[in-house]
Amino acid sequence: MSALAVNYAPLDIDIADGEGVWITDTAGNRYIDCLAGYSALNFGHRNPELTAAAHAQLDRVTLTARAIGNDRLLPFAEAVTALTGTEMLLPMNTGAEAVETAIKTARKWGYDVKGVPRYDATIIVAANAFHGRTTTIISMSTDPEAREGFGPYTPGFRVVPYGDPAAVAEAIDETTVAVLVEPVQGEAGVIIPPEDYLGAIRATCTAANVLLVLDEIQSGLGRTGATLTQDLSGVRADLTTLGKALGGGIIPTSALVGRRDVIEVVTAGTHGSTFGGNPLACAVGLAVTKILGTGYYQERARTLSPILAERAKDLVAEGLLTDVRCLGLWMGVDVANLTGRQVSIRLAERGVIAKETHGNTIRFAPPLCVTEDELHQVMDALTAALRA
Ligand SMILES: *Cc1c(COP(=O)(O)O)cnc(C)c1O
Repeated sequence: MSALAVNYAPLDIDIADGEGVWITDTAGNRYIDCLAGYSALNFGHRNPELTAAAHAQLDRVTLTARAIGNDRLLPFAEAVTALTGTEMLLPMNTGAEAVETAIKTARKWGYDVKGVPRYDATIIVAANAFHGRTTTIISMSTDPEAREGFGPYTPGFRVVPYGDPAAVAEAIDETTVAVLVEPVQGEAGVIIPPEDYLGAIRATCTAANVLLVLDEIQSGLGRTGATLTQDLSGVRADLTTLGKALGGGIIPTSALVGRRDVIEVVTAGTHGSTFGGNPLACAVGLAVTKILGTGYYQERARTLSPILAERAKDLVAEGLLTDVRCLGLWMGVDVANLTGRQVSIRLAERGVIAKETHGNTIRFAPPLCVTEDELHQVMDALTAALRA
């Protein structure tokens, strides 16, 4: 009888320590971590620049709450907005909170600025999306596992197929305040939309006076070879959610960034968080912006990407995989004749941690400090696991 709730089905491995891309379990086995905390660990376990920033801040002050200021908060906001080409930042902690903040901001903008009748606002979202686990967010989910048993659901969402700009345009009416999508669907298995998708929905939103909200909690901060995945399409969202890697794998840190005139609808007292913007998170987040400011990790994701993509294509040719989708150091593969779970167990036996997103889909997202040689080890392990 375990004291632990069973809301996950983890591999039977207990990690005791980690460094860079490597994690070691309590029995001393070493693994390349291609789960990387669902991309919270883009810069590796215990990245020295990030742990140094955290240690330094631990010795000064860790929490003040927003009722008073702290000297890390404005520098953090300035650094993240400068890095992302945005104007304003609202700090939160987890990804789901950043998405909730985006939903609340878009609705309030709809009533205060666009003039949508109170409370008729609708937000268009995509099928198979993942935006978090709150009751409102699961209300727009199409995943029965995430939804069933948790109603009543929050109204105000319209679901359209992902990757289809015409479906977005058709779903918009005078009540629509926002379109909320992931630039690449992470939990769905690294689903990459057609190349013109973001550009097309950007144009549709602008023409219809609807906010484009991009959830870059998993796709952002280096993973796909750009600071934001929207950069690859030359698109700027009105609102963007950030999380996961923003906390450097050390502390939950999330934010809503975007247009000043939109985020300004959130006024004092109307939204908040006890821990959001705390000095420890801001100090780590600031160090993350410094790391990303060099462009080093984005470039690594771009240049190393073909190792994953090309070796996976060989496995498709061999009939061991049925599909592969790869952008930067982010890859989803669909396995033939096995479940994702079976393959993830075989991978662990071969020194690689990568988990199924669902069914027969496995995602690989190694820390961006991974070497060429380590990526070949990952693909050797996958090849062996599929052939076994
Ligand atoms: C992980 C994730 C979230 C939720 O983040 P949490 O920190 O787990 O609440 C939201 N959106 C996307 C795209 C994610 O990948």
